Amino acid sequence: MRLRHEDFGAIVALEEPPALIHVDHALVAWLGHPPSPFADAPLGHLSAPTEVHLMVTNRCPAACPGCYTAATPDGDEPGEAELLDAVDRLAGLGVFHLALGGGESLLHPALFRVAAHARARGLVPNLTTSGLGLTPALAQACRVFGQVNVSLDGLDATYRASRGYDGAETALRALARLGEAGVPCGVNYVLSQATWEGLEATAARVAELGGNQIEILRFKPAGRGRSDYERLALSEAQARQLTPRLLALTASHPGLQVKVDCSLVPFLCAADPEPALLQALGVYGCEAGNALASVDAGGRATPCSFVDDAVGTVAELADGWRSHPTLARWRAYADTAPAPCRGCAYRAVCKGGCKVVTRHRQGDWFAPDPECPRVLAHRRGEAFVPVAIGRP
Ligand code: SF4
Ligand code: SF4
Repeated sequence: MRLRHEDFGAIVALEEPPALIHVDHALVAWLGHPPSPFADAPLGHLSAPTEVHLMVTNRCPAACPGCYTAATPDGDEPGEAELLDAVDRLAGLGVFHLALGGGESLLHPALFRVAAHARARGLVPNLTTSGLGLTPALAQACRVFGQVNVSLDGLDATYRASRGYDGAETALRALARLGEAGVPCGVNYVLSQATWEGLEATAARVAELGGNQIEILRFKPAGRGRSDYERLALSEAQARQLTPRLLALTASHPGLQVKVDCSLVPFLCAADPEPALLQALGVYGCEAGNALASVDAGGRATPCSFVDDAVGTVAELADGWRSHPTLARWRAYADTAPAPCRGCAYRAVCKGGCKVVTRHRQGDWFAPDPECPRVLAHRRGEAFVPVAIGRP
């Protein structure tokens, strides 16, 4: 168990079951820890990110048309020493989870040494991979990770439509190998017009193969994803259908954890869930520069992995966490967001939606998410009508 002091008390990190638990000052004392140094001098934000995405390479042979890092077969790749130094700096900052990704992360020759170093420094390393090149021996080596997610945007033709090549069987084989090796594993599913229909069939196959999780991500206008964004972005009608669909999915596969990424939270909120319930379930919206940060393959640190607004190097991220003006701006947005976010019951959870989408559609990071159903209704001058989800 690790405990990190915060304004509100502390975050306690458990490995089994894997969880980050927010506890108050009284519980910190009950656990036998000294009081939080931030109790009397609140920071107004987390004392460090809970998770940092560390891109170990921007090389990838697949060259998917929507790749958010615009990876290529000869993309940037940091050396082992740079990656180990990044791990040390993030460990020193107090980060809990290190999300290693690419490009195709398995291509980096030092990947497993970097992961082992993260473990030795008290971080939990997790991995995202396309599954290309994941042999049974590499699957065994993946036991160093807390969780491995394989990118799987549908089966057969759905995968082909999304990624531009026939990779679904490779991804499924990788998932099966990870399962056989006893590695906690699941899939990342990017939801777009190309993959909207294939979600249930994919979830069923993942559950059949023993995957523990399907993490659903909104397609974003980042990297090569910008060029075809208008065609592939979800429609307002689809955004409104998300919560009923996810509820049906969880009911069909009780053993499969259905997660949504930060950018889908405005769509979830279209069904008017209890805000306190979302908070209790650990659902969070835009946490760029607070719970989340990222370091790309060129060593540039950013508030999240889809944002190209750099804070500086990883050293500048670690040293400047409490005072960097770019981070301060990202953190402050939710409190100053204009209508309809200003009066929205979900503002504390959602934080105004995805800034990557907002910047792409409106040219500015800091404005209400233009694809949020509430924002769309507000702009049409209509009262927002929540989605009915058949509550008992
Ligand atoms: S900008 Fe915010 S909501 Fe969008 S991907 Fe980054 S952290 Fe998530
Ligand atoms: S109105 Fe703003 S805060 Fe509310 S759900 Fe939409 S984007 Fe989030």
